[in-house]
Amino acid sequence: MISQFRLSFRAWLMLISAASAIPIIIFSAFTLHLLEVKQRDAVYDFLGVQARITATQVDQRIETALATLHALALSDAALSGNIQALHAQSRRLAGNFTDANAIVFICKDGENIFNTNVDFGKELPRIGAIDSFKSSVRTGSPSVSDMFLGSVTKAPVIAINYPTKIPEYGDCILRLTIRPSAFNSIMSAQNAPKGWTFSLIDSTGTIIGRNREPEKFIGTKITQSVLDALADGIDGPFDAYTMSGDPVKAKLQKISKFNLYVAVGAPLDDLISGTRRSLIIYSVGGIAAAWAGLLIAFWVARHLNNQLRLASGASIALGLGAQPSINNSSVSELNAIGNSLTAASAHQQKVTAALAESESKEAELAAANAALASQTEELVRSNAELEQFAYVASHDLREPLRMISSYLSLLERRYGDRLDGDGLEFIGFARDGAKRMDHLVLDLLDLSRIERKGDPIVPMPIMPSVQLALTNLGMTIKDNSAIITTDDAIQHSWVLGDPTQIMRLFQNLIGNSLKYRKPDADPVIQIGGRHLDGYWQFSVGDNGIGIASEYFERVFGIFQRLHTREKYEGTGIGLAVCKKIVERHRGRIWVESIPSEGSTFHFTVLSAARPGGMTATGTDPA
Ligand code: ADP
Repeated sequence: MISQFRLSFRAWLMLISAASAIPIIIFSAFTLHLLEVKQRDAVYDFLGVQARITATQVDQRIETALATLHALALSDAALSGNIQALHAQSRRLAGNFTDANAIVFICKDGENIFNTNVDFGKELPRIGAIDSFKSSVRTGSPSVSDMFLGSVTKAPVIAINYPTKIPEYGDCILRLTIRPSAFNSIMSAQNAPKGWTFSLIDSTGTIIGRNREPEKFIGTKITQSVLDALADGIDGPFDAYTMSGDPVKAKLQKISKFNLYVAVGAPLDDLISGTRRSLIIYSVGGIAAAWAGLLIAFWVARHLNNQLRLASGASIALGLGAQPSINNSSVSELNAIGNSLTAASAHQQKVTAALAESESKEAELAAANAALASQTEELVRSNAELEQFAYVASHDLREPLRMISSYLSLLERRYGDRLDGDGLEFIGFARDGAKRMDHLVLDLLDLSRIERKGDPIVPMPIMPSVQLALTNLGMTIKDNSAIITTDDAIQHSWVLGDPTQIMRLFQNLIGNSLKYRKPDADPVIQIGGRHLDGYWQFSVGDNGIGIASEYFERVFGIFQRLHTREKYEGTGIGLAVCKKIVERHRGRIWVESIPSEGSTFHFTVLSAARPGGMTATGTDPA
């Protein structure tokens, strides 16, 4: 899959760096979420605390009012039932009480006995906030009314009812009516962030105290969202709107024993601003970090690219046979590659030098070969010429020789009786000389025929040729009482040879062993052989007179003789013939000898496969 994408090295690196940012982004998002939840919980807690503090302060205000009424109920005037005195005292107290509207005395059946805003004894209007009055009468406990318009002042107030007993009036209510301003100050005194709204509402949802623009909103119903929460009894943080339509998180807190509620609203913007700030900081930071990462990846990729280019340049240099150079790359692997390339270059230079040397040697060799070939060709040509000359010369020499011999015979026959003893002897010498000359010429002719008139060289068994040679020499062997043995090793040997010439070879060598015998010992001749790698080495050894080592080479030359004709007959051409035959068979011939002990002649011939046989050698040397 991946291999089908073809991106640049730089793109891959940038992809890696972008991919490595993914876990960071996930982690950051998760952290941000936790932070937001924590911050929200903290703000909600703060909202609840603010609401409770405000409610407690409102409660304290009411309790202060109730304490004032309690003190009044225990005054002498109240205890003695002196209502006029009680009115006077109430007026004083109301005057001292901050934001008090009036103190009102109401008997149990709801009759308004006095109101400190009206002089004692004057006619009074019917009391307001009758429900709260009834509640206190019924329960015998203090109560707080919803907002209503004071019956004398027509100003919005709330009433705090305190049940008591007054002589002659029985169960009564002492009531303190207070103006909303009493609560406005509490609401605005809260130490809350700017934009928070604190409202005090009665059980109907009418605003009776507010920290912001109280003059505008006191006496109006609070927003529907808060009314709904009030109806549903929700006190936890809920979404709402302020009177001016701003979205807030709101909290309702009931004033302990009374049907009044503190409503606190915190602007949503305010709540999430911290989170938003963190979010912005994290996002900007994250984006900056990602850009920095990408820039670094870009820079690293460019750097690596340059280093790689160095490496590929070095490889190309190596390919072109130049010196590759990667020195001190900042990438350790490239340094290693550089070292390998340098080593490869050194090796390459060595190989090139060796190649050049071998090429020059090859050229020298070729020149030498060519020279050799032309020399060989020249040699072959002159050899052929020589052979041709020898053949022609010996052939043509025989004719005058024959003439000399026949005229000598004619001379002897016709004038023999007229010649004296010396004359006859001279004729005998002359005929002998002619006969010897004829022998020499015949031998020479023989020698020249070896190369030119030989039979084809074929695979042949060695033994029949040896046997034939021995048969040809039968008489001489017998005359000399010679003992001839043949090694088992050569019994089945096969060679590549011209059978007639191989027979000649053995016949010449065995003949010489018989001829150059010691006069005082019967000849003992040993014919042997051994198979070597691809050829046979045969030998003919004797116990004859032997040859001095300085003649080992010479004896194979034409007409080379070590003895006089009188001592040993011969023309000195037998071994030259042997050498020529061996050379025609691509072999070698040499002699080993100790004078007076005997000689051994060795020669080699290529071995041949015995037809239908198991080995290429005839007799298996093993
Ligand atoms: P020839 O026998 O006609 O003289 P060869 O070429 O056969 O000519 O031999 C050359 C010489 O090598 C001989 O004159 C002889 O001195 C010497 N020679 C050859 N074979 C033997 C041998 N088996 N032992 C001793 N001398 C030998």
